Amino acid sequence: LNFLHTNNDSERVRVTLRARPSTKQEKQEEDNSLVYINPDKRTVIVRRNGSSVDYTEYKFDAVLSDSATQADVYRVAAQPVVLDVLHGYNGTIMAYGQTGAGKTYTLSDISINETSTSRIDGIIPRSAANIFEYTSNDKNHEYRISMSYIQIYLETIQDLLNPESSNLQIREGETGGIFIAGVHEVEIKSLEDLVRLLMIGDSNRTNAFTNMNAHSSRSHAIVIITVEKKSIGNLCGRTSIVDSGRRTPRPIGSQEQQILVGKLFLVDLAGSERLKRSGSEGLRATEAMSVNMSLTALAKCISARADPSNTHVPFRDSKLTRLLQESLGGNSKTSLIINIAPCSLYVHETLSSLKFGMRAM
Ligand code: ADP
Ligand code: MG
Repeated sequence: LNFLHTNNDSERVRVTLRARPSTKQEKQEEDNSLVYINPDKRTVIVRRNGSSVDYTEYKFDAVLSDSATQADVYRVAAQPVVLDVLHGYNGTIMAYGQTGAGKTYTLSDISINETSTSRIDGIIPRSAANIFEYTSNDKNHEYRISMSYIQIYLETIQDLLNPESSNLQIREGETGGIFIAGVHEVEIKSLEDLVRLLMIGDSNRTNAFTNMNAHSSRSHAIVIITVEKKSIGNLCGRTSIVDSGRRTPRPIGSQEQQILVGKLFLVDLAGSERLKRSGSEGLRATEAMSVNMSLTALAKCISARADPSNTHVPFRDSKLTRLLQESLGGNSKTSLIINIAPCSLYVHETLSSLKFGMRAM
């Protein structure tokens, strides 16, 4: 299940496909399945209606069937990015797919009062657990971990940890560096701190920021975990820069007291489904256009990255890509998870998600 890491594709977006289990109802309604998942070959085959000859094969860095566990997904699609962030790089983990395909389950599922040993937690709590485990075992560095939680709805950035901030702005620092001005950034010292903030954010997402019509599937939810790392116990006062060898991390501060800062963006993208033209008007149509616009901008930015000859990357086309600009760039790992619901009913949406994934590679 592990990715093949070679030097020449280390800068590329890694794409993992994950198929969720069919529901009971889907199983009953299923006439003949059109979507075949093959984890060993890392392929998905989509058969055109009824035909056994006419099919298209899609290949990804990893393909996970409905029997893959949350631990599998974490290991394949998240751990390499999280380790990078611990070494001072930025990283992005995104879930793409139609509403109901399993994006939120993959990223944010939290098992509360879990008694069994095999926790079912998604990538966000696992990332935090991984970060706290790593930092508490590292006696040579001092860490400060913090998190923000925002959503982008109709091209507006809303602070899910502080509902009063409903129109935050993206700024660029004097020395470069994209940040959200005035965003609530809370220090976290344990997994429990993160879980508590996630729940506050989710509750704000559904209460403060969701009016009668605006559904949360029409916004991008983004958790940002910042890891600041500082050397300790060095008599000369000099600290060495952690360097993975292939890229240069960006240290902040003087040579004597350097702090490495890594930011992890965990992005639960808005549902990728297209609205049927009939019946979409007013706010629904505006939302659909806004989501479509930002997902198209995202596709352009990641495919521009896949092609090094492309010099213009249109990061400014949307708030989402503007915010992720530094984390989608060449200096950081990006992991894209394509979530699909593998039943015939959704074959149209599934095909469009598979194509999005292929475009990113
Ligand atoms: P999305 O966020 O893409 O709209 P959800 O994550 O809410 O989709 O998933 C839809 C439903 O399917 C939820 O009830 C979720 O618990 C369930 N589900 C999704 N993926 C899985 C999975 N891999 N295993 C079990 N249940 C899943
Ligand atoms: Mg969701």
